[in-house]
Amino acid sequence: MSEFLTDDYANAQDASDPLRHFRSEFHLPQHEGRDQAYFVGNSLGLQPKGARAHVEEVLDKWANEAVEGHFTGSAQWMPYHELVREPLAKVVGAQPHELVAMNSLTANLHLMMVSFYQPTSERSAILIEAGSFPSDRYAVESQLKFRGLSPESTLIEVAPDEADGTISMQAIERAITEHGPRIALVLWPGVQYRTGQAFDLKEVARLAHAAGAMVGFDLAHAAGNLPLQLHDSGADFAVWCHYKYMNSGPGAVAGCFVHERHANTTRPRFAGWWGNDASVRFKMGPEFNPTPGAEGWQLSNPPILGLAPLRASLDQFGRATMPALRAKSERLTGYLETLIHENLSDVLQIVTPSEPSRRGCQLSIRVVGGHGLSGRSPGRSLFEHLATQGVLGDWREPDVIRISPTPLYNTHADVLRLARSVQDWRNGR
Ligand SMILES: *Cc1c(COP(=O)(O)O)cnc(C)c1O
Repeated sequence: MSEFLTDDYANAQDASDPLRHFRSEFHLPQHEGRDQAYFVGNSLGLQPKGARAHVEEVLDKWANEAVEGHFTGSAQWMPYHELVREPLAKVVGAQPHELVAMNSLTANLHLMMVSFYQPTSERSAILIEAGSFPSDRYAVESQLKFRGLSPESTLIEVAPDEADGTISMQAIERAITEHGPRIALVLWPGVQYRTGQAFDLKEVARLAHAAGAMVGFDLAHAAGNLPLQLHDSGADFAVWCHYKYMNSGPGAVAGCFVHERHANTTRPRFAGWWGNDASVRFKMGPEFNPTPGAEGWQLSNPPILGLAPLRASLDQFGRATMPALRAKSERLTGYLETLIHENLSDVLQIVTPSEPSRRGCQLSIRVVGGHGLSGRSPGRSLFEHLATQGVLGDWREPDVIRISPTPLYNTHADVLRLARSVQDWRNGR
């Protein structure tokens, strides 16, 4: 047994963790009278206890001030989206005017493609990764069809070229070089949802731009997970959601980044009144003069109740800071990796790259070593066993268990508990 597989080790790590007090700021789901070991922040982040006060503030304001709530008192609804801009800018590494919280991820992806995917007869293709998240793929395919193009000839997919289903930078470079003159848009993830692989976004943007293409990022699994430098990456646009690592609740209002070089673009866009310059918005005239920057893509007055929890979350990110979160995240995920390598390698294989620069907090794991007695998938059997122990990961077909130790609320003790539950399952098989 390795020294790492002990309570002493895990507890000592947790005791010296400078971010340890954040765990108590979250509601942790209970399992048989104790906290769950919740490793599903990649899917739905836990509720910050501060979220309720922000939601109640909106409810109270609505009850007491009704329509006046738009213009009076604190946290007025008219400029409410501006409350999240500056703290969000710190999390994703952007200028505040490059950001807006609006809509949902997929809706924002469509809005961005309307503006930044402008096919011509020579340059009409969109390059994505094979195995991209279904919603992204549907969005891209439907945009191609909407422009009268056929996905068979205009959708280029970069296939995984590494043993574990991950994609090398060389493969991305080869695809961009091979198809360069045809590519209108490169759409790439910050962190791949299934494998947990993180990409060098600045390099992807450089390659795409060198080929004359636009580049957009889907940061659903990267926002709040990795310290991003969106502005410096040079991306034309980026979209993400706030309900995963950003802990802002189911269906939370999403994020959108438009690089400042496009702040005053005359590109086509789908418009709505909330994107109109605030100084003339309520003149209710027929002319649309978009607000410079990302806010010019807003359609509607935002769902204030939906935005409220994001304020609580951003307050936490502001206090914790991304560099400190990342430092803890590397330790925590490294601990999980070590426990697997030293104690569980006969049953678990890690799909996610081992270099910290090529992953966020998530490790994607496959069960190896034959099938269970019932003939069921062994991965599914382990996944279900973990759930009975109050250890929650998630399952992605056909055979991956995703485990995402998040630095705001997970501990080394959680990771140790997971490893022990895997041991119990192995011994009981
Ligand atoms: C979570 C996720 C989505 C979900 O899209 P919504 O519009 O928020 O429902 C889309 N794409 C990726 C890559 C995701 O990880």
